[in-house]
Amino acid sequence: MSDPALRTLQQVFGYEAFRGEQHTIIQHVIAGGDALVLMPTGGGKSLCYQIPALVRAGTGVVVSPLIALMQDQVDALTELGVRAAYLNSSQDWQTARQVEKQFLAGELDLLYVAPERLLTDRCLDMLARGHIALFAIDEAHCVSQWGHDFRPEYLGLSFLAQRWPDVPRIALTATATAETRTEIAQRLHLEQAPHFVASFDRPNISYHIVEKTEVRKQLLQFIQQYHRGDCGIVYALSRNRVEETAAFLQSHGVSALAYHAGLPAEQRAAHQSRFLREDGVVMVATIAFGMGVNKPDVRFVAHIDLPKSIEGYYQETGRAGRDGEPATAWLAYGLQDVVQLHRMVAESNGDVQHQRNQARKIDAMLGLCETVTCRRQLLLDYFGQPIEPCGNCDVCLDPPQTWDGTVAAQKLLSTIYRLWRECGQAYGAGHVIDILRGRETERVQQNRHQALSVFGVGADLSVKEWRRILRQLIAYKLIEVQAHQFGTLTLTEHSRAVLKGERAVMLRKDSHTKPVGASRPQE
Ligand code: ADP
Ligand code: ZN
Repeated sequence: MSDPALRTLQQVFGYEAFRGEQHTIIQHVIAGGDALVLMPTGGGKSLCYQIPALVRAGTGVVVSPLIALMQDQVDALTELGVRAAYLNSSQDWQTARQVEKQFLAGELDLLYVAPERLLTDRCLDMLARGHIALFAIDEAHCVSQWGHDFRPEYLGLSFLAQRWPDVPRIALTATATAETRTEIAQRLHLEQAPHFVASFDRPNISYHIVEKTEVRKQLLQFIQQYHRGDCGIVYALSRNRVEETAAFLQSHGVSALAYHAGLPAEQRAAHQSRFLREDGVVMVATIAFGMGVNKPDVRFVAHIDLPKSIEGYYQETGRAGRDGEPATAWLAYGLQDVVQLHRMVAESNGDVQHQRNQARKIDAMLGLCETVTCRRQLLLDYFGQPIEPCGNCDVCLDPPQTWDGTVAAQKLLSTIYRLWRECGQAYGAGHVIDILRGRETERVQQNRHQALSVFGVGADLSVKEWRRILRQLIAYKLIEVQAHQFGTLTLTEHSRAVLKGERAVMLRKDSHTKPVGASRPQE
């Protein structure tokens, strides 16, 4: 066999054939080319730098932000007979010295380094004295300041291009929006490098999004009905919710474990290893869990709070069904989530432009929840990859019924308008809905809002229905949540057309009783 890449794949890794564009990418890098590789989670990015590192002379230096995972990766490679090691702050200095010596003696095929470590004088000096086969920059989206996972240490990596102009550099990520891609290329000086963009479609994952009512019960029902005894991940926004939810599931016979950054390191490690080794464990976690965790038979990923961005959501759900077998991504969301996320953004530090970007990402996520078209189509469209309706998401399986909500939308919009016109102030969802429904609360009386012409015009609909309408109007950008003003509601440039009767608003009907399609046989 004359192809060293294929030989390495088969003899070292024990796989028959390359997947997708792996072969092209690997040959390009072996030949000394730079590359930007965009592949979904589970797509097989690691081989794209591991094989060139083995084929080219010298050591492949891998920059990875995840100290906790370096050990696992190095162990797995060592087992295959690859000479791999890592340098990070979790080591004592003797071990680090030993690794440095091995590197200088040319005894390593792969060396994993955390970015902050790489950029120290000591490390740069060591690298300069050794022989480098390539630089691989994993999780390259961490360099994107507007992205969902920015790490300032990554900005320093542009330096590698200057210092080692002749060493090939390959940047890899599972985040593929055109914006992020351009930013990665610029910040890492990879403007000339070809982009290898794999299909982001994961047809075996069935997407289901429901409205929150009693979320823990809904989750339990979903697990019992469709994924009893299966391995899964449940994501929640806060540590408290993680612990409560894990306890709740345990008390109902699900082998659930908790994982968040507030737990002692040993406990986190123990839970992670049980999740990896045992069957049917459900990990309830914050997003601190999952990056780099490679378990092929995760059958479902559930979110019990609205994620902050489509990028993050897609990456998290991508951890389901890596073995290609049917899997489910299930999400429950409510208006409260939207308001809370906007508030978190407003309270975060960061400049206004950054906050605006984050707010846009939340609204795009809400748009996914409220869509009346194929979920997967919308997701892939977000990543610039148009597809036909998938036939395997809740919307495709059971298209939501719509109704002409123009009049309801007008009532809601004009209430917000009147409040602002006549009282010079914006209010939050609760008060606006009270006015619509004609409830004489204390607050209404204090402000004499019962005198408004809109008072009681929406008494025909329940609070729940109004909240549902409100969410959709936010998703359609007809209403904006002012995070900086305590989540008050204001109109947008688009609201006028609806108020003037120039634009109709079609809304979706209640949707939380949809069937789940994961147990269907796949084509
Ligand atoms: P990513 O980093 O893109 O999330 P990985 O590199 O961890 O994905 O690969 C995901 C899984 O697919 C791993 O278990 C890996 O060993 C496996 N894999 C990758 N390429 C191939 C291939 N050509 N043939 C078979 N399995 C592969
Ligand atoms: Zn679909």
